[in-house]
Amino acid sequence: MRYVSTRGQAAPIAFDAAMLSALAPDGGLYMPEAWPQLAPDEVRALATRTYPEVALQVLKRFSGEAIPLADLYTAIIAAYRRFDAPEVTPLTDLGGGIHLLELFHGPTFAFKDVALQLLGRLMEWGLKRSGRRALIVGATSGDTGTAAIEGLRGLASVDVVILHPKGRTSPVQRRQMTTVLDANVRNLAIEGNFDDCQAIVKTLFGDADLVARYGLAAVNSINWARIAAQIVYYVVAAAKLGAPDRPVDFAVPTGNFGDIFAGYAAHRMGVFEGRLVIATNENDILARTLASGRYEPRGVVPTATPSMDIQVSSNFERLLFEAAGRDGALVARLMDDLKAKGAFELPPALLAFIRARFDAERVTGAEAAAEMAATERAHGMILDPHTAVGVVAARRRRRAGVPMVALATAHPAKFPDAVTAAIGHAAPVPAVLAAMETMPERCDTLPAETGAVKAYIEAFIGGKT
Ligand SMILES: *Cc1c(COP(=O)(O)O)cnc(C)c1O
Repeated sequence: MRYVSTRGQAAPIAFDAAMLSALAPDGGLYMPEAWPQLAPDEVRALATRTYPEVALQVLKRFSGEAIPLADLYTAIIAAYRRFDAPEVTPLTDLGGGIHLLELFHGPTFAFKDVALQLLGRLMEWGLKRSGRRALIVGATSGDTGTAAIEGLRGLASVDVVILHPKGRTSPVQRRQMTTVLDANVRNLAIEGNFDDCQAIVKTLFGDADLVARYGLAAVNSINWARIAAQIVYYVVAAAKLGAPDRPVDFAVPTGNFGDIFAGYAAHRMGVFEGRLVIATNENDILARTLASGRYEPRGVVPTATPSMDIQVSSNFERLLFEAAGRDGALVARLMDDLKAKGAFELPPALLAFIRARFDAERVTGAEAAAEMAATERAHGMILDPHTAVGVVAARRRRRAGVPMVALATAHPAKFPDAVTAAIGHAAPVPAVLAAMETMPERCDTLPAETGAVKAYIEAFIGGKT
């Protein structure tokens, strides 16, 4: 299996090369050159298999020749052993045809662990084999950085530098990053906002010398290996609920469109028929796009669901590529329009393709809070605010006789302020999180300047080699 760029101008590369890079050289995102298939009998058989077994069946179809099966399985076993639920991603019946797919049983209590626990191990495997090293640089508003650090800490071939906006992540999320004292991890508190952090990281990735010298790689959801790992839990849930003999719908709290794109990929692999519901908060660019056909970012408004406070959903480009019949030149044209004019119009055929599979629901903070209160009353279960956005969208779009799976993307203890505001008290804090409150933290503060961050990185890596 080889990987092609959504903008059509980059040479195809193998799975391990795509995993250890960032954007394609033409600015696009890597995609498998064809969708591997799971036959109906294979999907039925997966309904009774363990999570690692399903993961192997799904992921080997994407890694192809690049990773020997025994090595892939070893990485899978090691990654999911750290989850605190035997099923890894348990499915809970919420009644009324709605099922909660719990993705927060990993070490940082958000769904990003599912991909990043595996990605770290696969990267280490690929680097060891080639005798190279990689430097991961990323910006985070919270969950991505914590999951990336936890997935990469202690690795011999990977260094990681994560930028967060100083004083603007929640205390829980900050501690999850800064209490990691492994020699290969550095946290930078940037005197600026999340956009400043992201702009610095983008500039660094544009520095060809730095990229080549340090093997700069990305672990945000532009990395195909992350999407591939997330396809697994759609297969697990769909097979348990009777796919492919019965339709299954999914509602997904969406920010960068990575998680829901993994659902689309599972659908394209022949795993299930059904609708994919994009759940957004007040930052509703995707809901507006599906309604009007016009993709137009506006300013981001801060909400109680910070991981969905995004105005440009990078993985939407992957869906555009699919909707355009894989016409990379057309995707490149739309992206040029976005850059030059700040918006683009979806050609009617592309809009029709997307509407045929996706719905979108904008959910306000008040609606999500009401759902959190109602779910606690009815089931004694506390939802995190991101999950609640998905559950509201799931209720609105549920079809009679079709199971609807709402993805639970974070543990409520990660967002104590929003939970308290909604239900009057915080969620019980897992022991691991409580213990962090008294652990030593390590973090360096820098101004929001690319030069300062680059000098820091050179000193950090220089000091190690
Ligand atoms: C990252 C995140 C999301 C959004 O996922 P995308 O793949 O960016 O769409 C939703 N909820 C939580 C809790 C997250 O951490």
